[in-house]
Amino acid sequence: VHLKSLTLKGFKSFASATTLRFEPGITCVVGPNGSGKSNVVDALTWVMGEQGAKALRGGKMADVIFAGTSGRAPLGRAEVTLTIDNSDGALPIEYSEVSVTRRMFRDGAGEYEINGTPCRLLDVQELLSDSGIGREMHVIVGQGRLSTILESRPEERRAFIEEAAGVLKHRRRREKAARKLDAMAGNLARLTDLTGELR
Ligand code: ATP
Repeated sequence: VHLKSLTLKGFKSFASATTLRFEPGITCVVGPNGSGKSNVVDALTWVMGEQGAKALRGGKMADVIFAGTSGRAPLGRAEVTLTIDNSDGALPIEYSEVSVTRRMFRDGAGEYEINGTPCRLLDVQELLSDSGIGREMHVIVGQGRLSTILESRPEERRAFIEEAAGVLKHRRRREKAARKLDAMAGNLARLTDLTGELR
């Protein structure tokens, strides 16, 4: 899945609308300390539906809204739009390009949109859940997490990579299917016994 662009408006330090375009390949965001690099990653996490203020490095959810600076008044809402290239049909939606928008107001009220149509958080989560970029996926590696991954044992590191690659989901499904099969085999054995007795 290729992320095409991210637009931030009133999100954290990005008071004015700012669009970052991601070309295929590696994108680097460079800047001095405190210039807002991590805020870009927060925006990505947030637009995909993050519900925890702590994961966004804030005390409460409305902390993502631009709080004002000496030269600029605070804003009443934060808005982030993520545009994803879906020409390969990786996302379960009939559009070659998909935009997900999340908006939040000071009272904590929020809205989501997919291609400009209002929707629920659940719709956003379902849209992204199979893409490998959704929340809780280790595709977004924040500051401090990198060393955890690099210093982890090989088995743990493998789990991180499998999760990022979207393998873990299939492994979980396979385990679930195996458990069902086991239960079915048990049922079948019991049925065979029963029919034996009935004969
Ligand atoms: P570092 O390299 O130190 O991690 P960084 O470039 O990643 O820096 P961020 O942590 O992304 O920087 O940005 C922090 C800046 O964002 C701080 O100056 C902080 O005041 C500002 N900021 C965070 N939330 C808001 C907000 N709601 N309103 C205005 N500014 C905010």
